[in-house]
Amino acid sequence: MSVEKNLSQLKKEIEDTCSKMGRSIHDINIIAVTKYVSKETAKEAVDLGVTHLGENRVEGLHEKYENLGKEVTWHFIGTLQSRKVKDVLPYVDYIHSLDRLSLAKEINKRSTKKVPCFVQVNTSGEESKHGLKPEDVVPFIRELEAFSKIKIVGLMTMAPYTDDEKRIRSCFQMLTSLKNEVQQLHLPYAPCEELSMGMSNDFQIAIEEGATMIRIGSSLVGNERKE
Ligand SMILES: *Cc1c(COP(=O)(O)O)cnc(C)c1O
Repeated sequence: MSVEKNLSQLKKEIEDTCSKMGRSIHDINIIAVTKYVSKETAKEAVDLGVTHLGENRVEGLHEKYENLGKEVTWHFIGTLQSRKVKDVLPYVDYIHSLDRLSLAKEINKRSTKKVPCFVQVNTSGEESKHGLKPEDVVPFIRELEAFSKIKIVGLMTMAPYTDDEKRIRSCFQMLTSLKNEVQQLHLPYAPCEELSMGMSNDFQIAIEEGATMIRIGSSLVGNERKE
């Protein structure tokens, strides 16, 4: 498995989907999710021009950061325990998993600067998935006004792992419509312009439905830890 081949294949598929939808490829950011792979493989991706990396665990983030540090933009995409916030904040540029007030409170307390966050939404209704219920998103974001260090740059979701394209698409459509709803509020701390949605098996559908950040692990850098 070569990261180089995977990346060119991925870019081609993004281009095809974008041209079909009349979207610009420059509106799509690829976040290489390196949680399954070594720091060497992560570096390979960066050397090939990938500028966004995503990790879902504090240990993985620290390990890769040590190696690649300021070369890339860092995304924390995993569930974040409040007590780990202080270990994550110095290293990350974006947090994709804001899903409760207690976490917002901790980020606000620990950070010295504004932290770009995505509100994670459970669009599939699956119990195994984290995130706010769709109907709770707007009230939640309104409550964030109290936290001056939190900036809501967008919404994030994970679709169910299924072959049922319709089900996946309806999750992404729901996230897009929620994003529009938040934007209508014109809250200065919640511009909410980004949609973090789409993974290896469903990024084309996500792009068709408006994704601006796709999070790609296995089909880009591989899945060494599972093999
Ligand atoms: C692991 C993970 C991804 C990437 O998954 P792949 O299917 O390997 O592309 C994306 N987003 C989140 C939140 C993840 O945990």
